[in-house]
Amino acid sequence: MSGIAAAKAGMGYQAATERPRCANCLYSAQEYVDRMPPYDRSGLRCRRGGYLVTAYAVCSQYQAKSPTKKEAA
Ligand code: SF4
Repeated sequence: MSGIAAAKAGMGYQAATERPRCANCLYSAQEYVDRMPPYDRSGLRCRRGGYLVTAYAVCSQYQAKSPTKKEAA
């Protein structure tokens, strides 16, 4: 393990995509929010709350969808 990797591991560093967030939450589902081929736009809906969310948002009901690469290793 390199010095940088050890420093990150020691501090519990998480990249933005590894942090708990709506995009990797068990309750989020991708859906089309605007259908106008070929310019369809998709968004995320919280299936628990029933409202649209953004990828980097999070709430107290967060449940991990699957283990991250670091957790699985
Ligand atoms: S609002 Fe909460 S429960 Fe819903 S997808 Fe985001 S983190 Fe998960």
